[in-house]
Amino acid sequence: MIVPCGSVAVVNRDTVPLTDQQRLVRDSIRDICSDFDREYWREKDEAGEYPHEFVDELAAHGWLGVLLPMEYDGAGMGTEEVVVIMEEIAASGGGFSAAQAVHGAIYNSVPLVTYGSEEMKADLLPKVARGEKSIQAFGLTEPNAGSDSTSIETSATHEGDEYVIDGQKIWISRVDASDYLVLVARTTPKSEVEKHTLGITMFLIDLEDAYDQGALEISQIDKTASGAVHSYELFFEGLRVPETAVIGEVGNGFYQMLDGLNEERLAIAAECIGLGEVAVETGVAYANDREVFGRAIGSNQAIQHPLAEAHARVQAAKGMVYNAASQVEESSRQEIGALANMAKFLAADAAFAAADAAVQTHGGFGVAREYDVERYLREARLTRLVPITQELALNYIGERVLDLPRSY
Ligand SMILES: Cc1cc2nc3c(=O)[nH]c(=O)nc-3n(C[C@H](O)[C@H](O)[C@H](O)COP(=O)(O)OP(=O)(O)OC[C@H]3O[C@@H](n4cnc5c(N)ncnc54)[C@H](O)[C@@H]3O)c2cc1C
Repeated sequence: MIVPCGSVAVVNRDTVPLTDQQRLVRDSIRDICSDFDREYWREKDEAGEYPHEFVDELAAHGWLGVLLPMEYDGAGMGTEEVVVIMEEIAASGGGFSAAQAVHGAIYNSVPLVTYGSEEMKADLLPKVARGEKSIQAFGLTEPNAGSDSTSIETSATHEGDEYVIDGQKIWISRVDASDYLVLVARTTPKSEVEKHTLGITMFLIDLEDAYDQGALEISQIDKTASGAVHSYELFFEGLRVPETAVIGEVGNGFYQMLDGLNEERLAIAAECIGLGEVAVETGVAYANDREVFGRAIGSNQAIQHPLAEAHARVQAAKGMVYNAASQVEESSRQEIGALANMAKFLAADAAFAAADAAVQTHGGFGVAREYDVERYLREARLTRLVPITQELALNYIGERVLDLPRSY
């Protein structure tokens, strides 16, 4: 290639004040990420390989247990620190995929901390904190239940001291990199409950046992974005799990799931911020390097302004994410829900605008894998769909914050 590639401009992204602890976390994560360059992430995306080396390194430094209490060998930290971790991982060049590769490992054990039995916690959480066992997969979505999650039909039928699980899940990520799956299933059909949010229960599924029983088959979904992190269809047929696999209260799993959801949404927003930042940096580097008509393309305002606007949008959304993260401890679920949904909506849109500006800045090279920005654009597009769509985030803001009539 005659055009310089892979250089990154230094764009000041220190726009929010950090606590001393956040600074320490940032420096440690930056240090780990510096061993995994853009080529590593490009190759993982192209080969469709899960980044085991990177995840193992984070585990070795204890970061997968960041949210676990110290009594289970965790770091006992909270959302304020997780947003720093996720932003740094994505901004390092790994993008949304890199953050997603560890997202489940950090978040899926949270329901166990709050609702798991003492036996379950004592057995599993220290192993999760040390990276010896992973709960990377969370199974909620079904072919007929995405945004409308209470329409799930996967059933868990009580038989003696066991539950028998039948049904289908779709889009379940990281099943290949996980020892356990947190499964959300119906213990009472929707037609038989007073409220559609009732009759739903969370289970901890030992995946090896499920395969050994011949009661679980998985099929990888062929998708374009986030090549390094795979998503699967899951087919359960007569899977037997002990009663002790229930996480928390039978029938109350939907409400348990809502607990911690806003904090997780802030982590996703931080992943979008990191992605937007690395897209802006890559675009700026190229705008300075590439000369057309005898001058750097960055001197054209048609190139400069979209990058400047993207930077402003990403940093504005970052302010919102960090502000919300700092309020998690003392705010109600309602208050954090409002902030988390606004932050996720703004961060995903800002990341998309940044990645799009970076692609446009690269001209034809914008679609060449070697320049990374095409990957950032695919990932940024995905952030507008998961874990909830932008429309559903707006529904939340419209209906629960602005008190407008419900659409469903
Ligand atoms: C790469 C990837 C990874 C994923 N990983 C996981 C995972 O690990 N575990 C898991 O459980 N799920 C996972 N999901 C599923 C994800 O959470 C769902 O795709 C998402 O919730 C949307 O559901 P859906 O795809 O069924 O879209 P639908 O619910 O069918 O919606 C389709 C469109 O209609 C819009 N829409 C629907 N209802 C309304 C309304 N009332 N108002 C306005 N607009 C509306 C939606 O916003 C969307 O644009 C993943 C998805 C992807 C793509």
